[in-house]
Amino acid sequence: MLELSDVSVRYGQHRALDHASVRVDKGEIVVILGANGAGKSTLLKAASGICEGIVQGRIQLDGTDLTTLSPNRIVDAGLALVPEGRGVFPDLTVRENLTLGAYSRRARDDEALTLDRVYTLFPKLREREKQTVRTMSGGEQQMVAIGRAMMSNPTILTLDEPSLGLSPLLSKELFQNLAKVRDLGIGVLMVEQNAKQSLAIADRCYLIENASVVHEDTAANMMQDPAVQAAYLGAGSSAPPATQTAPAVLPTPEPASFAIKPRSQQTLSADAVLGRSVADLVSAASQQSIDVTARQRPGAATTARVPTDRLAAVMGEIERAAQAARNRPRMTAPKRGAPGPVADQPTAAAKPPPVIEVYRAPRVEVYRRQPGGSEFERS
Ligand code: ATP
Repeated sequence: MLELSDVSVRYGQHRALDHASVRVDKGEIVVILGANGAGKSTLLKAASGICEGIVQGRIQLDGTDLTTLSPNRIVDAGLALVPEGRGVFPDLTVRENLTLGAYSRRARDDEALTLDRVYTLFPKLREREKQTVRTMSGGEQQMVAIGRAMMSNPTILTLDEPSLGLSPLLSKELFQNLAKVRDLGIGVLMVEQNAKQSLAIADRCYLIENASVVHEDTAANMMQDPAVQAAYLGAGSSAPPATQTAPAVLPTPEPASFAIKPRSQQTLSADAVLGRSVADLVSAASQQSIDVTARQRPGAATTARVPTDRLAAVMGEIERAAQAARNRPRMTAPKRGAPGPVADQPTAAAKPPPVIEVYRAPRVEVYRRQPGGSEFERS
Protein backbone atom coordinates (compact mmCIF):
# COMPACT_ATOMS: atom_id res chain seq x y z
CA MET A 1 0.00 0.00 0.00
CA LEU A 2 1.17 3.54 -0.79
CA GLU A 3 0.45 5.90 2.04
CA LEU A 4 1.10 9.62 2.23
CA SER A 5 0.42 11.01 5.70
CA ASP A 6 0.42 14.71 6.55
CA VAL A 7 2.57 15.54 3.55
CA SER A 8 3.40 19.21 3.03
CA VAL A 9 5.44 20.68 0.20
CA ARG A 10 6.89 24.17 -0.07
CA TYR A 11 8.43 25.82 -3.10
CA GLY A 12 10.26 28.67 -1.40
CA GLN A 13 7.56 30.62 0.43
CA HIS A 14 4.77 28.97 -1.54
CA ARG A 15 3.02 26.07 0.19
CA ALA A 16 1.86 23.77 -2.63
CA LEU A 17 0.65 20.93 -0.41
CA ASP A 18 -0.61 21.29 3.14
CA HIS A 19 -0.81 18.22 5.39
CA ALA A 20 -2.25 16.00 2.68
CA SER A 21 -3.02 12.37 3.42
CA VAL A 22 -3.73 9.92 0.61
CA ARG A 23 -3.53 6.14 0.38
CA VAL A 24 -3.75 3.62 -2.44
CA ASP A 25 -4.15 -0.10 -2.03
CA LYS A 26 -3.01 -2.73 -4.46
CA GLY A 27 -5.73 -3.58 -6.96
CA GLU A 28 -7.62 -0.29 -6.71
CA ILE A 29 -7.82 2.83 -8.81
CA VAL A 30 -7.73 6.13 -6.96
CA VAL A 31 -8.35 9.45 -8.73
CA ILE A 32 -7.21 12.85 -7.53
CA LEU A 33 -9.32 15.75 -8.75
CA GLY A 34 -8.66 19.42 -8.23
CA ALA A 35 -8.38 22.77 -9.91
CA ASN A 36 -5.24 23.91 -11.72
CA GLY A 37 -2.48 24.66 -9.28
CA ALA A 38 -4.19 22.85 -6.40
CA GLY A 39 -1.13 20.71 -5.75
CA LYS A 40 -2.03 17.41 -7.48
CA SER A 41 1.17 16.96 -9.52
CA THR A 42 3.19 18.03 -6.51
CA LEU A 43 1.71 15.15 -4.56
CA LEU A 44 2.68 12.61 -7.24
CA LYS A 45 6.16 14.10 -7.59
CA ALA A 46 6.67 14.04 -3.82
CA ALA A 47 5.79 10.34 -3.75
CA SER A 48 8.20 9.61 -6.63
CA GLY A 49 11.05 11.59 -5.10
CA ILE A 50 11.30 14.08 -7.95
CA CYS A 51 9.72 17.11 -6.29
CA GLU A 52 11.83 20.29 -6.51
CA GLY A 53 10.24 21.67 -3.34
CA ILE A 54 10.84 20.88 0.33
CA VAL A 55 8.82 17.80 1.26
CA GLN A 56 7.73 17.09 4.82
CA GLY A 57 5.57 14.29 6.19
CA ARG A 58 5.51 10.51 5.85
CA ILE A 59 5.44 8.64 2.53
CA GLN A 60 5.53 4.87 2.76
CA LEU A 61 5.21 2.01 0.29
CA ASP A 62 4.52 -1.34 1.90
CA GLY A 63 6.21 -0.12 5.05
CA THR A 64 9.29 1.32 3.28
CA ASP A 65 9.92 5.00 3.94
CA LEU A 66 10.22 6.65 0.53
CA THR A 67 11.13 10.15 1.73
CA THR A 68 14.78 9.24 2.21
CA LEU A 69 15.15 7.33 -1.08
CA SER A 70 16.44 8.56 -4.42
CA PRO A 71 14.00 8.38 -7.36
CA ASN A 72 15.57 5.20 -8.79
CA ARG A 73 15.40 3.48 -5.40
CA ILE A 74 11.74 4.47 -5.18
CA VAL A 75 11.19 2.70 -8.51
CA ASP A 76 13.05 -0.29 -7.06
CA ALA A 77 10.68 -0.19 -4.11
CA GLY A 78 7.76 -0.63 -6.53
CA LEU A 79 6.44 2.84 -7.36
CA ALA A 80 6.34 3.92 -11.01
CA LEU A 81 5.31 7.29 -12.42
CA VAL A 82 3.92 8.12 -15.86
CA PRO A 83 4.64 11.85 -15.91
CA GLU A 84 2.47 14.52 -17.46
CA GLY A 85 3.35 14.69 -21.16
CA ARG A 86 4.34 10.98 -21.17
CA GLY A 87 8.10 11.44 -21.32
CA VAL A 88 8.58 8.82 -24.01
CA PHE A 89 11.72 8.79 -26.18
CA PRO A 90 10.24 9.77 -29.55
CA ASP A 91 13.17 8.65 -31.71
CA LEU A 92 13.35 5.17 -30.22
CA THR A 93 11.12 2.27 -31.17
CA VAL A 94 8.30 0.97 -29.01
CA ARG A 95 10.41 -1.97 -27.89
CA GLU A 96 13.41 0.22 -27.04
CA ASN A 97 11.19 2.49 -24.95
CA LEU A 98 9.73 -0.47 -23.10
CA THR A 99 13.12 -2.06 -22.48
CA LEU A 100 14.40 1.18 -20.95
CA GLY A 101 11.62 0.90 -18.39
CA ALA A 102 13.15 -2.32 -17.07
CA TYR A 103 16.38 -0.69 -15.85
CA SER A 104 15.40 -1.01 -12.19
CA ARG A 105 16.89 -3.80 -10.09
CA ARG A 106 13.56 -5.37 -9.35
CA ALA A 107 12.72 -5.57 -13.08
CA ARG A 108 16.05 -6.39 -14.73
CA ASP A 109 16.00 -10.14 -14.21
CA ASP A 110 12.44 -10.58 -15.35
CA GLU A 111 12.62 -8.29 -18.38
CA ALA A 112 11.47 -10.86 -20.96
CA LEU A 113 8.62 -12.01 -18.75
CA THR A 114 7.47 -8.48 -17.98
CA LEU A 115 7.71 -7.49 -21.63
CA ASP A 116 5.46 -10.38 -22.52
CA ARG A 117 3.03 -9.29 -19.81
CA VAL A 118 2.95 -5.74 -21.19
CA TYR A 119 2.42 -7.04 -24.73
CA THR A 120 -0.44 -9.22 -23.47
CA LEU A 121 -1.95 -6.20 -21.77
CA PHE A 122 -1.52 -3.93 -24.82
CA PRO A 123 -1.45 -6.18 -27.93
CA LYS A 124 -1.05 -3.11 -30.13
CA LEU A 125 2.41 -2.53 -28.69
CA ARG A 126 3.50 -6.01 -29.76
CA GLU A 127 2.21 -5.33 -33.30
CA ARG A 128 4.06 -2.01 -33.38
CA GLU A 129 7.21 -2.94 -31.47
CA LYS A 130 9.51 -1.79 -34.28
CA GLN A 131 7.67 1.48 -34.90
CA THR A 132 9.37 4.74 -33.98
CA VAL A 133 7.32 6.27 -31.20
CA ARG A 134 7.17 9.77 -32.72
CA THR A 135 5.14 8.36 -35.62
CA MET A 136 2.44 7.03 -33.30
CA SER A 137 -0.83 8.66 -32.32
CA GLY A 138 -1.20 10.38 -28.95
CA GLY A 139 -3.19 7.46 -27.57
CA GLU A 140 -0.61 4.95 -28.72
CA GLN A 141 2.22 7.03 -27.24
CA GLN A 142 0.37 7.11 -23.93
CA MET A 143 0.11 3.33 -24.13
CA VAL A 144 3.91 3.17 -24.62
CA ALA A 145 4.41 5.42 -21.58
CA ILE A 146 2.19 3.22 -19.41
CA GLY A 147 3.82 0.08 -20.81
CA ARG A 148 7.27 1.47 -20.01
CA ALA A 149 6.22 2.23 -16.42
CA MET A 150 4.79 -1.28 -16.17
CA MET A 151 8.18 -2.66 -17.25
CA SER A 152 9.54 -1.68 -13.82
CA ASN A 153 7.15 -4.25 -12.38
CA PRO A 154 5.49 -1.79 -9.97
CA THR A 155 3.06 -2.51 -7.19
CA ILE A 156 1.70 1.04 -7.49
CA LEU A 157 1.45 2.91 -10.79
CA THR A 158 0.99 6.69 -10.62
CA LEU A 159 -0.08 8.76 -13.62
CA ASP A 160 -0.21 12.53 -14.06
CA GLU A 161 -3.08 13.50 -16.36
CA PRO A 162 -2.79 10.49 -18.68
CA SER A 163 -5.75 11.54 -20.84
CA LEU A 164 -4.34 15.00 -21.57
CA GLY A 165 -4.61 15.72 -25.30
CA LEU A 166 -6.49 12.54 -26.11
CA SER A 167 -9.85 12.46 -27.87
CA PRO A 168 -12.81 11.20 -25.81
CA LEU A 169 -12.63 7.88 -27.65
CA LEU A 170 -8.91 7.40 -26.99
CA SER A 171 -9.40 8.50 -23.37
CA LYS A 172 -12.04 5.83 -22.97
CA GLU A 173 -9.64 3.22 -24.34
CA LEU A 174 -6.91 4.49 -22.02
CA PHE A 175 -9.10 4.22 -18.91
CA GLN A 176 -10.19 0.73 -19.96
CA ASN A 177 -6.50 -0.19 -20.15
CA LEU A 178 -5.94 1.21 -16.66
CA ALA A 179 -8.79 -0.96 -15.41
CA LYS A 180 -6.88 -3.93 -16.88
CA VAL A 181 -3.76 -2.82 -14.98
CA ARG A 182 -5.79 -2.77 -11.76
CA ASP A 183 -7.07 -6.26 -12.55
CA LEU A 184 -3.45 -7.45 -12.43
CA GLY A 185 -3.43 -6.45 -8.75
CA ILE A 186 -1.53 -3.20 -9.25
CA GLY A 187 -2.67 -0.06 -7.43
CA VAL A 188 -3.29 2.94 -9.69
CA LEU A 189 -3.11 6.53 -8.44
CA MET A 190 -3.89 9.14 -11.07
CA VAL A 191 -4.36 12.84 -11.30
CA GLU A 192 -7.01 13.58 -13.89
CA GLN A 193 -8.94 16.46 -15.41
CA ASN A 194 -11.34 14.09 -17.14
CA ALA A 195 -13.40 13.50 -14.02
CA LYS A 196 -16.28 11.79 -15.76
CA GLN A 197 -14.34 9.03 -17.46
CA SER A 198 -11.80 8.52 -14.70
CA LEU A 199 -14.44 8.28 -11.95
CA ALA A 200 -16.32 5.76 -14.08
CA ILE A 201 -13.48 3.24 -13.65
CA ALA A 202 -12.13 4.38 -10.27
CA ASP A 203 -12.73 2.91 -6.84
CA ARG A 204 -12.04 5.98 -4.74
CA CYS A 205 -11.38 9.68 -5.18
CA TYR A 206 -9.74 12.59 -3.36
CA LEU A 207 -10.49 16.26 -3.93
CA ILE A 208 -7.63 18.70 -3.50
CA GLU A 209 -8.31 22.41 -3.17
CA ASN A 210 -5.75 25.08 -2.40
CA ALA A 211 -3.08 22.57 -1.40
CA SER A 212 -5.33 20.60 0.98
CA VAL A 213 -7.27 17.38 0.65
CA VAL A 214 -10.81 18.60 1.26
CA HIS A 215 -12.81 15.47 0.54
CA GLU A 216 -12.41 11.72 0.14
CA ASP A 217 -15.05 9.22 -0.92
CA THR A 218 -15.84 6.30 -3.18
CA ALA A 219 -15.89 7.17 -6.87
CA ALA A 220 -19.58 6.23 -7.05
CA ASN A 221 -20.48 8.67 -4.26
CA MET A 222 -18.34 11.40 -5.76
CA MET A 223 -20.19 11.12 -9.06
CA GLN A 224 -23.47 11.73 -7.23
CA ASP A 225 -22.14 14.66 -5.19
CA PRO A 226 -23.80 17.86 -6.47
CA ALA A 227 -20.70 19.94 -5.70
CA VAL A 228 -18.48 17.53 -7.63
CA GLN A 229 -20.99 17.46 -10.46
CA ALA A 230 -21.03 21.23 -10.63
CA ALA A 231 -17.26 21.64 -10.43
CA TYR A 232 -15.93 18.68 -12.37
CA LEU A 233 -18.65 16.84 -14.25
CA GLY A 234 -20.40 19.74 -15.94
CA ALA A 235 -24.13 20.30 -16.17
CA GLY A 236 -26.03 17.35 -17.57
CA SER A 237 -23.01 15.08 -17.86
CA SER A 238 -24.13 12.81 -15.10
CA ALA A 239 -27.38 11.52 -13.75
CA PRO A 240 -28.80 14.03 -11.28
CA PRO A 241 -28.84 12.97 -7.64
CA ALA A 242 -32.05 11.38 -6.43
CA THR A 243 -32.95 14.42 -4.31
CA GLN A 244 -32.63 16.84 -7.17
CA THR A 245 -35.94 17.89 -8.69
CA ALA A 246 -36.57 19.48 -12.02
CA PRO A 247 -37.00 23.25 -11.79
CA ALA A 248 -40.64 24.33 -12.01
CA VAL A 249 -39.87 27.05 -14.54
CA LEU A 250 -37.27 26.71 -17.16
CA PRO A 251 -34.83 29.59 -17.01
CA THR A 252 -35.35 32.08 -19.79
CA PRO A 253 -32.19 32.44 -21.80
CA GLU A 254 -30.71 35.90 -21.78
CA PRO A 255 -31.68 37.62 -25.00
CA ALA A 256 -28.77 38.07 -27.33
CA SER A 257 -27.72 41.69 -27.56
CA PHE A 258 -27.86 41.45 -31.34
CA ALA A 259 -28.21 38.83 -33.97
CA ILE A 260 -27.25 38.71 -37.59
CA LYS A 261 -29.80 36.78 -39.56
CA PRO A 262 -29.56 36.02 -43.27
CA ARG A 263 -32.02 38.10 -45.24
CA SER A 264 -33.60 34.97 -46.65
CA GLN A 265 -34.67 33.99 -43.14
CA GLN A 266 -36.34 37.31 -42.33
CA THR A 267 -40.10 37.21 -42.64
CA LEU A 268 -41.92 40.52 -42.80
CA SER A 269 -45.62 40.88 -43.49
CA ALA A 270 -46.72 42.88 -46.50
CA ASP A 271 -48.71 45.13 -44.15
CA ALA A 272 -45.50 45.88 -42.26
CA VAL A 273 -43.68 46.72 -45.46
CA LEU A 274 -46.47 48.96 -46.83
CA GLY A 275 -47.22 50.60 -43.53
CA ARG A 276 -50.97 50.04 -43.90
CA SER A 277 -53.31 47.13 -44.39
CA VAL A 278 -53.18 45.52 -47.83
CA ALA A 279 -56.70 44.24 -47.20
CA ASP A 280 -57.90 47.85 -46.88
CA LEU A 281 -56.22 48.82 -50.11
CA VAL A 282 -57.66 45.83 -52.00
CA SER A 283 -61.08 46.34 -50.52
CA ALA A 284 -61.07 50.02 -51.54
CA ALA A 285 -60.00 49.14 -55.09
CA SER A 286 -62.56 46.40 -55.30
CA GLN A 287 -65.32 48.74 -54.13
CA GLN A 288 -64.43 51.17 -56.89
CA SER A 289 -64.53 48.36 -59.39
CA ILE A 290 -68.02 47.28 -58.22
CA ASP A 291 -69.30 50.84 -58.48
CA VAL A 292 -68.02 51.13 -62.02
CA THR A 293 -69.50 47.78 -63.10
CA ALA A 294 -72.89 48.59 -61.55
CA ARG A 295 -73.10 51.93 -63.27
CA GLN A 296 -72.28 50.44 -66.64
CA ARG A 297 -75.16 47.89 -66.47
CA PRO A 298 -78.05 48.41 -68.98
CA GLY A 299 -80.70 50.56 -67.41
CA ALA A 300 -78.38 52.13 -64.98
CA ALA A 301 -78.59 55.84 -64.68
CA THR A 302 -76.82 57.30 -67.70
CA THR A 303 -75.99 60.31 -65.71
CA ALA A 304 -73.65 58.23 -63.59
CA ARG A 305 -70.11 59.04 -64.46
CA VAL A 306 -67.54 56.26 -64.42
CA PRO A 307 -65.39 57.22 -61.46
CA THR A 308 -62.11 56.33 -63.10
CA ASP A 309 -60.64 59.28 -61.30
CA ARG A 310 -61.41 57.63 -57.93
CA LEU A 311 -60.05 54.28 -59.10
CA ALA A 312 -56.94 56.06 -60.26
CA ALA A 313 -56.79 57.76 -56.87
CA VAL A 314 -56.82 54.38 -55.09
CA MET A 315 -54.21 52.97 -57.44
CA GLY A 316 -52.11 56.05 -56.82
CA GLU A 317 -52.52 55.46 -53.09
CA ILE A 318 -51.19 51.93 -53.51
CA GLU A 319 -48.29 53.22 -55.57
CA ARG A 320 -47.47 55.87 -52.95
CA ALA A 321 -47.59 53.26 -50.17
CA ALA A 322 -45.20 51.07 -52.13
CA GLN A 323 -42.90 54.04 -52.75
CA ALA A 324 -42.99 54.95 -49.06
CA ALA A 325 -42.09 51.36 -48.19
CA ARG A 326 -39.05 51.55 -50.47
CA ASN A 327 -37.86 54.74 -48.79
CA ARG A 328 -38.58 53.56 -45.23
CA PRO A 329 -35.67 52.53 -42.97
CA ARG A 330 -35.10 48.74 -42.99
CA MET A 331 -37.50 46.83 -40.77
CA THR A 332 -36.37 43.99 -38.62
CA ALA A 333 -38.38 40.87 -38.07
CA PRO A 334 -40.07 40.82 -34.67
CA LYS A 335 -38.50 38.71 -31.97
CA ARG A 336 -40.64 35.91 -30.61
CA GLY A 337 -43.03 37.38 -28.05
CA ALA A 338 -42.48 40.96 -29.21
CA PRO A 339 -45.58 42.93 -30.26
CA GLY A 340 -44.67 43.26 -33.91
CA PRO A 341 -42.08 44.31 -36.40
CA VAL A 342 -39.96 47.18 -35.22
CA ALA A 343 -38.44 49.80 -37.40
CA ASP A 344 -34.86 50.72 -36.74
CA GLN A 345 -34.69 53.35 -34.00
CA PRO A 346 -34.31 56.85 -35.40
CA THR A 347 -30.98 57.21 -33.66
CA ALA A 348 -29.84 53.87 -35.02
CA ALA A 349 -31.11 54.80 -38.49
CA ALA A 350 -29.12 58.00 -38.30
CA LYS A 351 -25.95 56.18 -37.38
CA PRO A 352 -23.75 54.94 -40.18
CA PRO A 353 -23.99 51.17 -40.67
CA PRO A 354 -21.35 49.18 -38.75
CA VAL A 355 -18.24 48.31 -40.67
CA ILE A 356 -17.62 44.59 -40.76
CA GLU A 357 -14.06 43.89 -41.67
CA VAL A 358 -13.37 40.80 -43.67
CA TYR A 359 -9.97 39.23 -43.25
CA ARG A 360 -8.49 36.95 -45.79
CA ALA A 361 -7.47 33.53 -44.52
CA PRO A 362 -3.69 33.61 -43.97
CA ARG A 363 -1.69 31.56 -46.33
CA VAL A 364 0.15 28.78 -44.55
CA GLU A 365 3.09 27.08 -46.08
CA VAL A 366 4.50 23.91 -44.62
CA TYR A 367 8.15 23.06 -45.04
CA ARG A 368 9.43 19.56 -44.50
CA ARG A 369 13.03 18.77 -43.69
CA GLN A 370 14.59 16.38 -46.20
CA PRO A 371 15.77 13.20 -44.52
CA GLY A 372 19.49 13.43 -43.79
CA GLY A 373 19.87 16.95 -45.10
CA SER A 374 19.41 20.53 -44.08
CA GLU A 375 17.30 21.39 -47.14
CA PHE A 376 13.63 22.13 -46.69
CA GLU A 377 11.00 21.12 -49.17
CA ARG A 378 7.71 22.95 -49.46
CA SER A 379 4.67 20.67 -49.32
P1 ATP B 1 -2.29 21.46 -12.81
O1 ATP B 1 -3.58 20.73 -12.83
O2 ATP B 1 -2.39 22.81 -13.48
O3 ATP B 1 -1.12 20.64 -13.27
P2 ATP B 1 -1.60 20.96 -10.08
O4 ATP B 1 -2.73 20.80 -9.15
O5 ATP B 1 -0.94 19.72 -10.57
O6 ATP B 1 -2.03 21.87 -11.29
P3 ATP B 1 1.01 21.66 -9.12
O7 ATP B 1 1.75 21.49 -10.39
O8 ATP B 1 1.16 20.63 -8.09
O9 ATP B 1 -0.54 21.91 -9.38
O10 ATP B 1 1.43 23.07 -8.53
C1 ATP B 1 0.93 23.52 -7.26
C2 ATP B 1 1.48 24.90 -7.02
O11 ATP B 1 2.86 24.85 -6.86
C3 ATP B 1 1.24 25.86 -8.16
O12 ATP B 1 0.92 27.11 -7.62
C4 ATP B 1 2.56 25.90 -8.89
O13 ATP B 1 2.77 27.16 -9.49
C5 ATP B 1 3.53 25.67 -7.78
N1 ATP B 1 4.71 24.95 -8.27
C6 ATP B 1 4.75 23.75 -8.85
N2 ATP B 1 6.01 23.40 -9.16
C7 ATP B 1 6.80 24.43 -8.76
C8 ATP B 1 8.20 24.67 -8.79
N3 ATP B 1 9.04 23.79 -9.29
N4 ATP B 1 8.63 25.83 -8.30
C9 ATP B 1 7.79 26.73 -7.77
N5 ATP B 1 6.45 26.57 -7.69
C10 ATP B 1 5.96 25.42 -8.19
